[in-house]
Amino acid sequence: MPVKQNSSWILKAILQQRDSLQQVEGWNNMKGKIITRKVYQMLRVDYAVVGWRQTMYQNMARPRALFVFWLACHCRLATKDRLQKFGVIVNLKCCFCHNDETINHLFFGCIELKNIWHKVLRWLKVDHVPMEWNEELRWITRSSKGKGWKAQLLKSAAAETVYTLWKYRNDVCFGNQVYNTNIDEDIINTIVYRGWRSPKIREHIAHLLI
Ligand SMILES: [Zn+2]
Repeated sequence: MPVKQNSSWILKAILQQRDSLQQVEGWNNMKGKIITRKVYQMLRVDYAVVGWRQTMYQNMARPRALFVFWLACHCRLATKDRLQKFGVIVNLKCCFCHNDETINHLFFGCIELKNIWHKVLRWLKVDHVPMEWNEELRWITRSSKGKGWKAQLLKSAAAETVYTLWKYRNDVCFGNQVYNTNIDEDIINTIVYRGWRSPKIREHIAHLLI
């Protein structure tokens, strides 16, 4: 079946997979039957980042922050590239720069938002330069393993940062008044407030505040 110019985006996406399917080694067995597991793994865009779910467990971030973070992990935030796929908008430009807005660009290819996350990480005394979302999520997942105070703070910081930056992006995109431009301070204050409830983490936060 040929791919026509006027085919819907979903039909085009399905037909594109037909070509990539041929390249999967071992996608069918000797009898010519499709091995579903192999095909499923290949087709999953987020196959490499399945481990992110652990960042949700015992995360001290606010429920609303966890929800937005969860959407981001699933690449389900209404970024402009996704809206365009659904035919909602045409202008793809990021609100902060001239690049197209995708989740990889926003978190944290976009310099404006990358700098804010970088400041939060520096406050946590984490030596790391933010990368684009897929890479960054892998890094967050790796770095927030275990029950140590730093892992706890890092995963709550990731959720609070994604939430606050998404809200900031919405305010700028929809022309709302942005009253506070010290976004990183806002995020840090929330991390401190939420973490202070835990006696084990409180003393470490106190050191970070000195
Ligand atoms: Zn940008």
